[in-house]
Amino acid sequence: MKILVVEDEIQLADALSELLKRNMYSVDTFYNGIDGLDNALTGVYDCILLDIMLPGMNGIEVLREIRREKINAPVLLLTARSEVDDKINGLDCGADDYLTKPFVTGELLARVRALTCRKGEIVDENRFEYKDVALHKNTCSLSCGANDIKLSLKEYLVMEMLIANPVQILTKERIIEKIWGSESDVEYNNIEVYISFLRKKIASLGADIQIKTARGIGYFLE
Ligand code: CA
Repeated sequence: MKILVVEDEIQLADALSELLKRNMYSVDTFYNGIDGLDNALTGVYDCILLDIMLPGMNGIEVLREIRREKINAPVLLLTARSEVDDKINGLDCGADDYLTKPFVTGELLARVRALTCRKGEIVDENRFEYKDVALHKNTCSLSCGANDIKLSLKEYLVMEMLIANPVQILTKERIIEKIWGSESDVEYNNIEVYISFLRKKIASLGADIQIKTARGIGYFLE
């Protein structure tokens, strides 16, 4: 479990880092908003502890940027007692929880535990299944039993559409419109290429499903 701490009060930041390390978390600490954001955007963290008043870029701006870049790691805001408006603003911007300073360490650890375990549940919600195959949003992969294989983002999106509408024929127009947008210049043979990659990947998993062609129309899962 990897945690990012962004806090400019160096003593507090280092104490937090020590506490978390003693509790078996791996921790990276940064003392300003810009470095904090740069590192948050790597997407490797399971939880982010974010102070609001920070030099360089404040915590709310960091949070907004993190969410804009689709980083879904739970964020726990660390706020001073006077920052009530910031707290509300923070929750509106996608923070998962907040803790008012000064706090007791037991409470901090409890919140972190709750947030990281909540993330596990979201991971499960991000799983689509059809027959013996599961599609995983968080890892952009497809699995069957103990085997799994990475998908490109576009392959993932095509597979998600197929699994969400099993047996139903998806026309090539609809796939293009949904994934590339109606203004795109993607052609039917581009879709055929993605389908052929997906078929190879499904076959390599030894899965019991197939992408069938509805001649002249589109594709369906069987
Ligand atoms: Ca601060």
